[in-house]
Amino acid sequence: MIAEDTGLVHLSTGDILRDELARGSELGQKAKQYMNRGELLPDNLIVTMIEDRIREKDGFILDGFPRTLTQAEALEEIAALDFAINIALSREEVIVRLSARRACAECGRIYNLWFDLPAGNNDELCDNCGIKLVQRDDDTPAVIEKRFDIYMADTRPLIEFYREQGILVEVNGAAAREEIFAQIMRIITT
Ligand SMILES: [Zn+2]
Repeated sequence: MIAEDTGLVHLSTGDILRDELARGSELGQKAKQYMNRGELLPDNLIVTMIEDRIREKDGFILDGFPRTLTQAEALEEIAALDFAINIALSREEVIVRLSARRACAECGRIYNLWFDLPAGNNDELCDNCGIKLVQRDDDTPAVIEKRFDIYMADTRPLIEFYREQGILVEVNGAAAREEIFAQIMRIITT
């Protein structure tokens, strides 16, 4: 929604990774080796993917990146951020929302059975492809709990990192989507 309104480029690490994998690029092939072993991608691999895409861009929104202090420090070498937006949500609410997430295996589009249903509502079919949506393996409650622990250990320190830089913006993620959007737009456009 922000990208649409501002014309900024939306860069999601998930989308970038899927694109590299689909194209079978050198980076994609490297990433695949880690994924096949069930390992997290190393910071430098992710940073390289991002770096390729923000070069020569006037403005962009990074989504899902940086996730670690190492990534944040590497990002500083490439670009100066105007804002870091923390959309805060409780552990309980995160589990409820992510458990309701569904994805299309064909086009990659993400839905949510709570607030972002496919047009046919409860049929759980992709609007684009008409095929049954699936729950990603990492969106099951047990894995979400683990991801939350990793977030607390690796990603949460970024809040202090960006607060010290004076660019941290905190938004209540429990508000309605339109309200969150309005709050963020007020901040980044004034
Ligand atoms: Zn689809």
